[in-house]
Amino acid sequence: MSPLDPDALEPEALDRAADILTGSRYAVALAGAGMSKESGIPTFRGEGGLWTRLGEPPLNQYQTFASDPARWWERRIEEGQQSAQSEFALALEAAQPNDGHRALAELEEMGILAHLITQNIDDLHRRAGQRSITEIHGNRYWMRCTGCGARWPREEFIVDPDHLPPTCADERCGGIVKSDTVMFGEPIPAEALHRSALETAQADCFLTLGTSAVVYPAAGYPIDAAQRGVPLIEVNPEDTPLTPLATVVLRAPSGDALPRLVEAVRARREGRS
Ligand SMILES: [Zn+2]
Repeated sequence: MSPLDPDALEPEALDRAADILTGSRYAVALAGAGMSKESGIPTFRGEGGLWTRLGEPPLNQYQTFASDPARWWERRIEEGQQSAQSEFALALEAAQPNDGHRALAELEEMGILAHLITQNIDDLHRRAGQRSITEIHGNRYWMRCTGCGARWPREEFIVDPDHLPPTCADERCGGIVKSDTVMFGEPIPAEALHRSALETAQADCFLTLGTSAVVYPAAGYPIDAAQRGVPLIEVNPEDTPLTPLATVVLRAPSGDALPRLVEAVRARREGRS
């Protein structure tokens, strides 16, 4: 049986996960690249990953930005005017939310999922209707002030090419504005770390979705929850370092497992099972 075979999702595991979620009032989820991959966005690491094929990007991206933000912005504007886009950028532009994204938004709508921590920058969770989100690596379609941490959707923040680098909309702050995506070498914004830790501390159930859980601090949240005795539900077609900690493992892609899980929870709530 291939690891991606939907039949690999064992009915007993699905039942157990549905039981846990049905009794949950403050579930928190951590989503990783696996969810985006199901929408056609290439992963970075691993077999066929962008970096595996093309080489890792420079690790000092943020230092390059911080040493000369105006120059960084000039380059970005120049690149934006050239029609040739990177393979990754093209895949992002074309990507649409998948069944997994939609099921997760439904779980929030049902009052079960209280918060989503995502490592993905592609905006697909928001587009699927998710409201309570921490994007720990930022959002490609947003901008952020490096001074106060304020964020704006890209289309709402006008960059004047004659006044680079752009600065905070709040004149009292005056901080330099960059793309919201967290660069290599850039610390994860304090607000995102704070919120993620706070939400994790309140969780009565924790879901990990398509994340290999090797990148910190993200990987630490499910571990913290599990150490408090909070049930951990892992949804991933493959084993991860978190698998031994998981209460239940749904060995399937999110786009397959999550809709079935939501349906099973709904059935329990409506007394159909
Ligand atoms: Zn600011």
